[in-house]
Parts: sequence; structure tokens; C-alpha cells
Amino acid sequence: MFKAARRMREQLVGRTVVRSDFRVPQHATADLSGRRITAFDSYGKHMLTRFSPAAGDDGLTLHTHFEMDGAWQLVGPGKVLPRSVGDEVRLVLATDGPTAYALRMPVLELLPTAEEDRVVGHLGPDLLGPSWDEDEAVRRLAADPDRPLVETLLDQKDLAGIGNLWAVETCFLRGHSPWTPVRDVDLRATVRLARRMMQHSLDHPGQVTTGDTRRGQTHWVYGRAERPCRRCATPVAFRDSVTGRPYARETWWCPRCQPGPFPSLEERPTRPGLRRGVNEESFGSRTKRLSGRPGYARRA
Ligand SMILES: [Zn+2]
Repeated sequence: MFKAARRMREQLVGRTVVRSDFRVPQHATADLSGRRITAFDSYGKHMLTRFSPAAGDDGLTLHTHFEMDGAWQLVGPGKVLPRSVGDEVRLVLATDGPTAYALRMPVLELLPTAEEDRVVGHLGPDLLGPSWDEDEAVRRLAADPDRPLVETLLDQKDLAGIGNLWAVETCFLRGHSPWTPVRDVDLRATVRLARRMMQHSLDHPGQVTTGDTRRGQTHWVYGRAERPCRRCATPVAFRDSVTGRPYARETWWCPRCQPGPFPSLEERPTRPGLRRGVNEESFGSRTKRLSGRPGYARRA
């Protein structure tokens, strides 16, 4: 996410819009041509593209959010977007440099720059943002002392910009069960670690937490259900995401290296068949789906 934002920023900021074409009903008549792109910032998974003022306003901001599916695609001068994705274009932003296409983008809205707070004001400090505020992040994370660590880390109102992979791996590296109440956690050390890992990742390929870039070796527990813990060889446990609870995502942990509370098998909602063959000691599943099908670990 941050790498994509950085690439967009490098390519677009300072460029002038030559033509814009919004293919979403609410902005069908909007026209950004002639405006300069003054900034491209990300706040968690929200991206804000800012445009210079024109007659009648003090500058506009384009708010986009990928959710699970959207993407920005940059196409250099003289090149064309692959025909196969033509139907997915929601916005064409042609500049005096590259052309940016917003594909499938579920959230795409234009608003006065002065009103940005309306769309990102509720977010907690952005771990990799320019105005990172560690004290404020710790304050928000600690606000509900009984809340499970992994859920508060994922709640963008407490901390913006951290995905499930980083949250799960941070819990492992700090030696806490993901369901440890935050009152029992050194939150400052926890956010520092998460931030350090994510910053390091910005300048290195992939999302590696182990320092080992070989295939299958990049994570401690994330995506490794039933496989031996890299530290103690105990099978890595898994809890599926919980429908209707946005911060109860798929979770992996080592029951030995990460002491603390964890959901009983009864409390672990799961997809049909996922629990087959589970024994109480390994807290995982032996179904084909979890036994290393490629792609599983790629889900973020
Ligand atoms: Zn372990």
C-alpha cells in the first residue's frame, strides 16, 4: 500500500492534469483539467490526491480507498492501458506526464480539500504517515483496556495503516497471544516494533518479517496454520475471521511462544470442514485449504 502510494507520489505530484474522465455517476461532470497535482498522501488505506485551486474553490481532494479490490494503474506517455481492464476504469487522470487510471475503486469521491477531515479525520495516527504521533497512537490503543491486542491494532480509529499481516506478526514477535487484553501489553514497544518492520519493508521487496526472503520463509506465523513454529516447533494455531466483526480477522499464533488468552474451539467460528481433524493441542486444521495451498498466505 505504501509502496504504491510512494510510486504514485513520485510520478504524479507536480504534474498538471490534461484531461480527467470520471466514470462514476456522482462526479460524471467533474473536470480537473488545468489543475496541478499538489500532493498524493495515504492515511491507512485511504489515499488523498490533492489538486490546486481553480476559480470558485480553494483546492480539491480526490479520496480513494481500495477496500479489497481497487487499484491505481499508471501508464507512461505513449503507452495504452490493456484493453482487458477497460470496463474497470472509474477515473482517467491524464497528466502532462503519465496517465493514472483508477480501476474498480469502490470509494472514489471528490471533495474540497478543506473538508478532508470528513473522510480521514476519524483515523488514528498513521504508522508511516508524515505526521506520525506515537503518544497519540498509544493513547488510542490503550483506551479500552480489556480489548484484545490484535483487534485494537487492526482498528483504523486507533492506528491507521497496519494490515492483518503486520498485526499478527507483531503479536508473535512481542510474545503475546493476539487476544491479550491491551492493559497487559507494553503498547509503546509494540507500535515501535510494528512501525520499524513496516518501514523496513518499504525499502525491501515483499512483506518480510523474518528477514528471510526465501519462498515460504518470510513470516513467523502468518499463513502458517499447522506448520511448526519457527522458534519452538509447536504447530501454529489458526482462528478464522468472524463474520460481522471487522477486526476479527484470520489470525495465526503459536500457543507456546505467545501465552495468553485465546478463543476455545467452540468460540472459533470457522468455515465448513475447516475444523476436521483438529486436536485440542494444535488448535488448527488439517484440511487441504490450510496445508499450503499457494495463495493462502498472500491474502492480506
Ligand atoms: Zn513457538
